[in-house]
Amino acid sequence: MRFSFRQAVGMVLGYLLLAAAPLLLAYLGPLPEPRPFWVEFGVGLGFVGMGVLGLQFLLTGRFRNVASSVGLDLMLQFHREVGIVAFLLILAHPVILFATDPTYLEFLDPRVNLPRALALSSVLAALVLLVVTTLWRQELKISYEWWRTGHGVLALFVILIGLVHGLQVGHYLSPVWKQVIWVVLTLAAVGLLLKNRVIRPLRLKKRPFQVVEVREESPGVWTLALEPRGHGGVDFRPGQFVWLTLGSSPFSLQQHPFSISSSAEEPGRVELTIAELGDFTSGISSVPSGTTAFLEGPYGAFVPEEAEEGEDGEPGAAGAVFIVGGVGITPVMSMLRTFRDRGDSRPIVLVHGAPSEDRALFRDEVEALSGMLDFKTVHVLEEAPDSWEGERGLVTPEVLDRHLPEDGLAEWEYFVCGPPPMMDAVEQHLRSRGVPASRIFSERFNIV
Ligand SMILES: Cc1cc2nc3c(=O)[nH]c(=O)nc-3n(C[C@H](O)[C@H](O)[C@H](O)COP(=O)(O)OP(=O)(O)OC[C@H]3O[C@@H](n4cnc5c(N)ncnc54)[C@H](O)[C@@H]3O)c2cc1C
Repeated sequence: MRFSFRQAVGMVLGYLLLAAAPLLLAYLGPLPEPRPFWVEFGVGLGFVGMGVLGLQFLLTGRFRNVASSVGLDLMLQFHREVGIVAFLLILAHPVILFATDPTYLEFLDPRVNLPRALALSSVLAALVLLVVTTLWRQELKISYEWWRTGHGVLALFVILIGLVHGLQVGHYLSPVWKQVIWVVLTLAAVGLLLKNRVIRPLRLKKRPFQVVEVREESPGVWTLALEPRGHGGVDFRPGQFVWLTLGSSPFSLQQHPFSISSSAEEPGRVELTIAELGDFTSGISSVPSGTTAFLEGPYGAFVPEEAEEGEDGEPGAAGAVFIVGGVGITPVMSMLRTFRDRGDSRPIVLVHGAPSEDRALFRDEVEALSGMLDFKTVHVLEEAPDSWEGERGLVTPEVLDRHLPEDGLAEWEYFVCGPPPMMDAVEQHLRSRGVPASRIFSERFNIV
């Protein structure tokens, strides 16, 4: 996290204000005769539900400034949790109305108004689908790409029907000026979706990259090197990531996030180090040189502070501790290579968990870098030969305690990236040792 308390308060207040905007709009100007409390309450929840739903498009809008201070995983986690809140608010709207006054059931009665009944019942079904497919995507065996496409379509459908429903009922939105604002607010949300899914790929089309090398780093892990064609490349900070699309169209459904593993001092050659996992990553080894690619970004708040720079007037960190597992070392490689290229002399501790000696990613390069930087490296091997004198097993709190800096633990910056159970245990342990949350940076590769 790279935002101050004041910025956090500002973000929360801004969010609440925007979420309440439809409700505020409803209550602006001359009001109609009040109805029973529970009817008004149910209607109010519908307006707030629409506000929260509209803001969902903002949260996934991949705004670089927000994403680089809050972090994508935090944004998406918030998006996920708030999505359930929006679902409950919108669902509570008809439920409360039906319970208070059963005549409202006619909104779902096809004999009274077939298009309206169809639209409103489909919207309820769409909301249930949105939540179920998001919470249980993997159990339902829906691929990420199809889920993402369907998610956008369903969300668009719900918000557009909400727009029409608000206008049709018109109780609070009868003045034309209110209708105009209602339409503008809804279209702003839809516009964010279009920006993300249409305008951004169009812009990417003008900034292609080309695959110039694919090399094996360790069994099942490949580095893809890309060079810009006709532009200056990606101006990134070490530790950030990009969304990669391979092939001649940036509109491909297959767009995957990968941390940049190369030095930020070389924006003209971007390297991504990719472990084989599913259909997309398993094809990386056979990507031919010359393949066109698109990189959207950079994004991410998993970034060390600049040398000698403190955040928000705080003193700079004493140094950087990297605690990584497996392919989680990729963003840290970018940091180490950048520190080397910049002659950065901050003290560094790297704790690297790996399955075995030959699968300890970048081990030789890390050893070489440790000679150039102020650097202590600890490899923790799950399977080690008898001759291995280093740490064995997993990256546990006990291993950390043996190698973390002895003094001023809270003054260092910590970067954690690896398997989720390792990350949870490490974050918990650091907090229990008194490290403030503002000094712990985590990059989770399993955000969805
Ligand atoms: C910020 C970030 C940085 C990452 N950096 C690296 C890296 O440097 N090296 C590396 O090997 N891996 C990295 N990953 C993980 C990588 O994105 C996934 O392993 C890859 O997308 C899996 O795709 P697949 O089709 O091969 O596997 P699948 O079997 O289809 O997917 C496996 C899991 O990966 C996730 N995933 C799949 N597709 C996407 C997608 N399009 N967008 C987001 N998540 C998806 C889902 O959780 C899915 O369940 C990173 C992930 C994130 C979020």
